Amino acid sequence: MFYIGCHLSASKGFTAMGKAALQIGANTFQFFTRNPRGGKAKDISEKDVADFLVLAKENDFGVLLAHAPYTLNAAAADKDVRQFALDTMRDDLRRMEYVPHNYYNFHPGSHVGQGAEEGIKKIADALNAVLTKDQTTTVLLETMAGKGTEIGRSFKELQSIIELVGLKDKLGVCLDTCHVYDAGYDIVNRLDGILENFDRIIGLDRLKAIHLNDTKNPFASHKDRHEKLGQGFLGEAALVKVVNHPKLRELPFYLETPNELDGYAAEITLLKKRRKE
Ligand code: FE
Ligand code: FE
Ligand code: ZN
Repeated sequence: MFYIGCHLSASKGFTAMGKAALQIGANTFQFFTRNPRGGKAKDISEKDVADFLVLAKENDFGVLLAHAPYTLNAAAADKDVRQFALDTMRDDLRRMEYVPHNYYNFHPGSHVGQGAEEGIKKIADALNAVLTKDQTTTVLLETMAGKGTEIGRSFKELQSIIELVGLKDKLGVCLDTCHVYDAGYDIVNRLDGILENFDRIIGLDRLKAIHLNDTKNPFASHKDRHEKLGQGFLGEAALVKVVNHPKLRELPFYLETPNELDGYAAEITLLKKRRKE
């Protein structure tokens, strides 16, 4: 099964997202759990969730990907900023149980001058504080571009976080094609080698989802600017290879390209056409 979707606005609820996904040929989607810059989350409507679950089942939807606000910083030096990240993640994970067995992706954080090692420790501490053995949600660490003092710029940094977490079976990784290329992993010319490297350091069984984006910036520029598929430095051929790769093709793919719904629909149509049987 080819699970493909894109980032959708969560403002009208799950059923509206499910219908929007179907309209553009998607069978999964990503959404922010609350305002991407933080702030209070909307209450979950049980009726909306129940309707969505029926729609998702009827249409063979794949696993959903929730995205934490990108301003969270579990690695912050400031105790209040760290506490806010903790409270938000805990509340998000509680709310995710309304739609059980999905994924919750977050940006590991920025060490803001404390050093990567200290940041890694703080992120692991946060995960150890919020993960519970009863949760059905798998929490994904996103591979980052390495902008500023971002942690997660290398597979090694992600693995260092995972190693310090107790409930490892609740953890996975989301690979962002724009970010890894920006971070210095040449997935255009060396995709097989990069995946072998990922497998050696983290283990491919940890890889749960792909953010499929092109990039506005050349290799290893650490900038994190997404581009429409085929219009950036990754190019269409490299991205088509990603969705067909034997080690990746069973994973769900989520577009985070700069598009409105019609642009996403066109990219999904293109990918379906280029997907091998
Ligand atoms: Fe992200
Ligand atoms: Fe991403
Ligand atoms: Zn990004």
